[in-house]
Amino acid sequence: MTYITFDLEWNQPPRGMRPLPEFGEEIIQIGAVKVDAATGHADRFRADVRPQYYTQIKKEVFQLTGISASQLENGVPFPVAAQKLRAWCGEDFRFVTWSHEDVPVLRRNLRQFGLDESWVPEVSYDLQKIFSVQKLGKYQQMSLAKAMDLENLPHPLSDHDAMHDALHTACLCETVDFAKGMAEYAFYEAEAARGQAISVNKGQGYKTPEDAHADGALRRFVCPECGQPLQVGEWQKLPGIKRKAAARCPQHGAFEVRLRCQPVRTGGFKARAGLYRPEEKAETEQAAE
Ligand SMILES: [Zn+2]
Repeated sequence: MTYITFDLEWNQPPRGMRPLPEFGEEIIQIGAVKVDAATGHADRFRADVRPQYYTQIKKEVFQLTGISASQLENGVPFPVAAQKLRAWCGEDFRFVTWSHEDVPVLRRNLRQFGLDESWVPEVSYDLQKIFSVQKLGKYQQMSLAKAMDLENLPHPLSDHDAMHDALHTACLCETVDFAKGMAEYAFYEAEAARGQAISVNKGQGYKTPEDAHADGALRRFVCPECGQPLQVGEWQKLPGIKRKAAARCPQHGAFEVRLRCQPVRTGGFKARAGLYRPEEKAETEQAAE
C-alpha cells in the first residue's frame, strides 16, 4: 500500500458570480507526495491547473495562495491533470490529507468534468485528526505551520502552495503513530465530530463588531433534524467580543449559536457564527477555526 499526501488549492466564484450547483470550488493546483522517508519524499506530483469555470482568480484566493491567473495560463486543463495524477498514484494507494476537504473537492471536480472517480479510494485519512488527538489528547484544528512548529520541524517553504503543503503533511506523517492512527481512525473521526459546529454562517465587511451583531444573516439557521428555521434569541455577551444566543426548534429543542468577530488586517471586522448542540459547548472554544 502506498500512502500519498495530497493537497489542493482551489478557486471560488469571484464576487458577483454564482457558484455552480454541487461544484463549489474549482481546483487550480495539485500537490502530492509518496510518503517514503527513505527517499526524502522524492516521488512527487505537481500540477498547475488552468480553470475552466471560474477563470478569474478570486481576490481572497490570490491573497492566500499567491496564485495568479497569468500563472495558470501555463497550467494544464483539469482532465489532463487528473489523468496524470491517476497514473502517478498507481494502484493500491490511500490519500492522506491535512483536513477533510481535499478528497471531496477532488471528487466534485472529477464529477463536474464528467470524469471517472472510481479510482479515488473510498478510504482516506485526515492527518490533522490523527496528529492532534495523538499529540494533544483531543481534536484541535490547526494549520500545517503550527503543527510543524509543535514538532520543531523547520518549514521554510511557503504555506498554501499545494506541493509545499503535501510535503509538510508527509513530514508530519512521520511524527505520529500512523499505523495506530489508521487502525483507530473511527475513534479520531468521532473525536473531531464532537464540538464541531453543525453549520456556520460567515460575514465580512463590518465596520464594527456591533455591525456584525446586528446582521440578521449571521443568525439565520435551520434545524439540522427537520430543516425548519430556528428561533434565535438575543445575543448574550461572552468574554471579549464573543456572543452567544439560544436557538430553538419547536420540535427538536435547544441549540446554541456562537458568534465570533475578528479584526481584518485591511480594516473592519469579519464574523463567524456557528450552530452547536448545547451539550457540546464546552468543546467549541478550541474547535472554532
Ligand atoms: Zn427541528
